[in-house]
Amino acid sequence: MSVTTRFAPSPTGRLHVGNIRTALHNWMLARKAGGRFLLRIDDTDEQRSREEYVAAIRTDLAWLGLHPDGEECQSTRLQHYEAAFERLRETGRVYPCFETAQELELKRKIRLGRGLPPIYDRAALELSGADRAAREAEGVAPHWRFMLDHDAPIAWDDGIRGAQQFDPAQLSDPVIRRADGSWLYMLPSVVDDIEMGVTDVLRGEDHVSNTAVQIQMFTALHAAPPRFAHEALLTGAEGKLSKRLGSLGVDEFRQRGTEPEALVALLARIGTSQPVEAIAQIDTLVASFDLAHFGRAPARFDEGELERLNAAMLHQFAFERVQHELPQGMDARGWDAIRPNISTLGEVRDWWQIVTGPIDPPPFDDETRGFLAGAARLVAGGSVFAADDPWHALTNALKEATGRKGKALFLPLRQALTAMDHGPDMKQLLPLIGGEEALRRLQRAAG
Ligand code: GLU
Repeated sequence: MSVTTRFAPSPTGRLHVGNIRTALHNWMLARKAGGRFLLRIDDTDEQRSREEYVAAIRTDLAWLGLHPDGEECQSTRLQHYEAAFERLRETGRVYPCFETAQELELKRKIRLGRGLPPIYDRAALELSGADRAAREAEGVAPHWRFMLDHDAPIAWDDGIRGAQQFDPAQLSDPVIRRADGSWLYMLPSVVDDIEMGVTDVLRGEDHVSNTAVQIQMFTALHAAPPRFAHEALLTGAEGKLSKRLGSLGVDEFRQRGTEPEALVALLARIGTSQPVEAIAQIDTLVASFDLAHFGRAPARFDEGELERLNAAMLHQFAFERVQHELPQGMDARGWDAIRPNISTLGEVRDWWQIVTGPIDPPPFDDETRGFLAGAARLVAGGSVFAADDPWHALTNALKEATGRKGKALFLPLRQALTAMDHGPDMKQLLPLIGGEEALRRLQRAAG
């Protein structure tokens, strides 16, 4: 049986880093198995779902390089949920309820007060046909619950958490349909997983108890449940569940200059026993992906680690990868010279500006100006830029002529030529600046 996974966001907001991680892992799981990865838009909540978020989800996944092999949308599949609902109704697995939200809240409080788990008491099952008819005659439409089978424990072998077991009597019969006929998440997800041939459901551990309920739904619909795996949740670097992570999404990463490869490499490995490394080739990450590496402790998302990874990623990117994002006129030599000095691609612009000029060098004292005048004369002579390595030719000749060495030799030259105290290797930078411009800069500094 080939593998099919799905990422099932509700389009009620932008994807945050936790969703992105779930999407990535589902994509990797499918990719590793040579299977399919579906994007399923869980938009049964008409009030909160928005088309603009659907569009943003697609764009965000594309930016990450996570292209789905198919896309489904729950709002176009309502008749499938209706059909499943009818089947469950015929077999007595769903039942109508009339409690108001306030009544339910009161029941909950009373149970909690008695030290009982706050689960639904199934009072609606006690209603007679006449009771129900009376409520409906009053104009109260029922909402519907799925009736859990209390006879046997619900068990599954979780791909990350290992053997799981739930006592169904400790769970509430879940509401699956609202009084207005609209669907809650629980049943449509199962219907889709069955009809779309989903073999593996990989999601956050906040869904563990949903899984227990959904396993009974699969069975009630005469379908074999898929494999389930639940990942430990993401926490901030400080180890706490952070509010910030709930709003941190692709837009902000982009603005900060985070490369998708860096985010992917980090999210692929945090929370696993494998080291986080600057691996830009997605196939390498996919090949090493295995649920067996996932731990049960929360995965720490450290923004500092992401920054370091981003820099390491840029330092290995080939010119072709970044070409379309570089300043005009910047070629592969320019990229090779500058890339070791940047931690985001945005910083390239400043360094390239230093290459192309104009620059604003600091003032120099008389002695240094004399030294720089000597440098200008050497450059004007023509031999420096005729050499294979103009920087070596220039500094060697100056060393011999002046006896200067180390910082006294290199720093004034760097300052005169770049207006900076540090930066990319001058051996690579000087040929980019070029003979004429270098001469102008030295003469001006010596001025
Ligand atoms: N729409 C659900 C969510 O975003 C999907 C959960 C699932 O993967 O089944 O939580």
